[in-house]
Amino acid sequence: MSAESSSEEPELCVRDVFAMDTFMHLKAYGEHADTTLGKAIERILLLEDKLSVKSEQSDTWAINHSDGKAVSVSKDTMTLLRKGIEIGEKTNGALDITLYPVITAWGFTMDKQQIPDTQLLADRMSLVDYTGVLTDGDLVSVPDGMQVDFGALAKGYTSDCVIEILKKNDVNSALVNLGGNVHALGSKPDGSFWKVGVQNPFFPSEQICTLDISDMAVITSGNYERYFTGSDGKKYWHIIDPKDGYPADNGLVSVTIIGKSGLVSDALSTALFVLGTEEAIRYWQEEEGFEMILVTDDAKLYYTEGLTEFIQISKAWNANVIFRE
Ligand code: AMP
Ligand code: MG
Repeated sequence: MSAESSSEEPELCVRDVFAMDTFMHLKAYGEHADTTLGKAIERILLLEDKLSVKSEQSDTWAINHSDGKAVSVSKDTMTLLRKGIEIGEKTNGALDITLYPVITAWGFTMDKQQIPDTQLLADRMSLVDYTGVLTDGDLVSVPDGMQVDFGALAKGYTSDCVIEILKKNDVNSALVNLGGNVHALGSKPDGSFWKVGVQNPFFPSEQICTLDISDMAVITSGNYERYFTGSDGKKYWHIIDPKDGYPADNGLVSVTIIGKSGLVSDALSTALFVLGTEEAIRYWQEEEGFEMILVTDDAKLYYTEGLTEFIQISKAWNANVIFRE
């Protein structure tokens, strides 16, 4: 690198915020970085207010307490509803934005987690069906008792919104980390890739690989992120299979999606975790626009062929490449 370019190294600005139940770390380069990160944080907090399932002022609350009547919601909420329904359809219901009554039965939204009583679980499951969510313009209606939540996709959407604000304000090099969901804007100021690590689901302080990325989201769903050990000694995690209301146990312990859209990547990380190894691979082979890394419960690592030039696998892991058929 020439002396000239290093003297032009742009200013680095870093901000941390706790929102949406998670630690968020934003870093951006350039003369507009400081004020722009301020605007980005305002946007994050505003989104939290609109989407929070627990705040009485949120759109989510309005939908969940609408007694079957149509309610008007913000554009942000409508975007999440529509994308949630669309990916629900494309994944055969593996993503279901109406799972909230089941998630609360497991106590994943509280600190008191437990295996729910089978009758309670059956009652709650009768309220789950994303096809019951109807949208029309800015109006949404759900059958009485149905409850939505955006836990599976809100952080991905939020990172899209942050990146959009940064771009609009002439920031072109930034890395946004929303509780482990990473989204890069451009590359590093010196033009090299951002390096992002993917956690080892069995030892989360270690990494299974690092990825070279620019202008890309890297979003992981894993069974190690939120779980408890039941009275039967078994591990129960927060990603639920909408088919039976139990933690999805189809052979995967983590799914990482690498894609341009944070929203789609977040929705897919959850949905493909539910689908399991074979169906996740089939979904990738039939769809365009994203790459993925799968880790199975018997400690096998798979990655899609598009990552070959960009992935460095950690020692001790033998990787299998997934090809298009
Ligand atoms: P993620 O970490 O993106 O995989 O999202 C997990 C969160 O989404 C959970 O904490 C639940 O709030 C919610 N969730 C769990 N399972 C599902 C599912 N199958 N479809 C939609 N949301 C889910
Ligand atoms: Mg997700």
